[in-house]
Amino acid sequence: METLGIDIGGTKIAGGICDEKGNIRCLQRVPTPEDAADINAVVAGIYQRCKNDGDIRSIGISAAGNVASDRRTVSFAANLPAWNQYPLADAIENLIGDGVKVVVENDANAAGWGEYRFGAGRGSRDMIMITVGTGVGGAVIVNGQLARGGFGMAGEIGHMVMVPDGEACGCGLLGCAEQYASGSALERFAWSAARRQPCQSEHLLEACEYDRSKLIGPMVRDAARQGDPTANEAFDRIGEWLGRLMANLASVLDPDTFVIGGGVAEVGGMLLDPARAAFSRYLEASMYRQHASILEAKAGGMAGVIGAADLARID
Ligand SMILES: [Zn+2]
Repeated sequence: METLGIDIGGTKIAGGICDEKGNIRCLQRVPTPEDAADINAVVAGIYQRCKNDGDIRSIGISAAGNVASDRRTVSFAANLPAWNQYPLADAIENLIGDGVKVVVENDANAAGWGEYRFGAGRGSRDMIMITVGTGVGGAVIVNGQLARGGFGMAGEIGHMVMVPDGEACGCGLLGCAEQYASGSALERFAWSAARRQPCQSEHLLEACEYDRSKLIGPMVRDAARQGDPTANEAFDRIGEWLGRLMANLASVLDPDTFVIGGGVAEVGGMLLDPARAAFSRYLEASMYRQHASILEAKAGGMAGVIGAADLARID
């Protein structure tokens, strides 16, 4: 059975028809409008353009927000205020008609499911996806099932408190993992090191013109590749926190595989090597157990589309 997968992000909406092997066709990309009704119209438009290209019975939506356990309602969306307590599935089903069923999933969960089925997690049974971008997102698969939790909120790995009274997080808590193992933490660590050791940070300081507000993650990556010791240390530091986070997760869920995705993870070993080392160091009974594989994501930017489409197919 073919389904339509649609990923509604803060800046763009991508969607297409997905088959059972994770192939996409009729792929379309549209900027995300601000208004909820306009977003629904974009989704309906993608359906209209694709419907003659396949036998679409259901639509899986990957939504950048918290999704209630009914898999129909967005309870809160930090980047799309129009979606607070919004019945997204009802609204789209009513607009499209044709008896098409709509299933809504949280975006990190949909992308994690895409990795599990068609990407780096293929063949695993218990997998945790960690997305390292500006923030830290996650998805948890237990015994081949996506863990949604009792209230739809499972997998919010980035908001596990790692440091009591630590850095303030956008969620309102202090010391969340997201403040230590993310792209924004990378920038913060790199800047503080550059301030202390400017002679070890020449490439980075030149790239950002000695201005903290101009410093972005890719500059830290480039400076590390050009040999700035402090830029390399910044990757070591977020890698260390990522390893610690994975060791904590392993104590609860003991996954066979971790998949690390998101923009920051595209540097590969620069992040994953220190993360693997720290994981082994912090893992309970490290010498007496099997260690999970820690792999780089490979389903790419379409993981949310194919993951949402697949989740709509199997339920
Ligand atoms: Zn937080």
